[in-house]
Amino acid sequence: DESTAVLRARGLFAGYRKIPCVRDVSLDVRPGEIVVVLGPNGAGKTTTLLTLAGALPGLGGEVQWRGNPTKASLHRRVRDGLGVIPEERSVISRLTVHDNLRIGQGPVEQALDLFPELRPLLRRRAGLLSGGEQRMLLTARALAAQPTVLLADELSLGLAPKIVTRLMQALRGAADRGAGVLLVEQHARQALAVADRAYILQRGSVVWSGSADEARQNLRRVERAYLGQD
Ligand code: ATP
Repeated sequence: DESTAVLRARGLFAGYRKIPCVRDVSLDVRPGEIVVVLGPNGAGKTTTLLTLAGALPGLGGEVQWRGNPTKASLHRRVRDGLGVIPEERSVISRLTVHDNLRIGQGPVEQALDLFPELRPLLRRRAGLLSGGEQRMLLTARALAAQPTVLLADELSLGLAPKIVTRLMQALRGAADRGAGVLLVEQHARQALAVADRAYILQRGSVVWSGSADEARQNLRRVERAYLGQD
């Protein structure tokens, strides 16, 4: 139902130096659902996410926030309830886990309730954490702010399946409490396990969209035909 989308791209073109590498992408994110955007390397997933976040200007089409076209900056969108976990690791290495949580938009206690695993690590410098622990820190910090919409880029990249499951469950919990979640992933299986719907991007365009159920049932075919994985 169109009217309930909280974040939407409509015929979006996006890219760098005025050259679009994302072409005519339409997608939407509704409260309470996890949407996964899949696609091979270079398909335009990160570019789409950054444009939805207001970190890159669009080159055509529009982004709608709660039904209204927006060109607001990332900063402004974050104030309006957007959460972003970018692909590049955004912990501050020299600060402790505790300080990294304190610079978030949400209460530290809330973050620790979501990820009690972080409690014994509070005094450690974030730069000394494992990749999985850093991703937990970023996810805890983002979710503690109770974002209306959370955008996450390749959250699972390089992590052990057990940690990925943990992160995906945390996102599922946030969606079940009403957040809209958009997840960009190269690896389909674990994201689809918690997702409601999926879009597949290839060379900057949506080549397939449907329910996560349908994508799960055809996982092998999806991986071979669209993601270049055998
Ligand atoms: P990946 O999984 O590698 O992140 P992706 O699907 O997220 O892939 P994008 O990062 O959106 O793809 O890249 C889409 C296209 O834009 C690619 O051809 C890439 O080389 C190009 N690109 C990405 N970042 C920039 C940049 N800062 N300046 C110029 N071109 C870029």
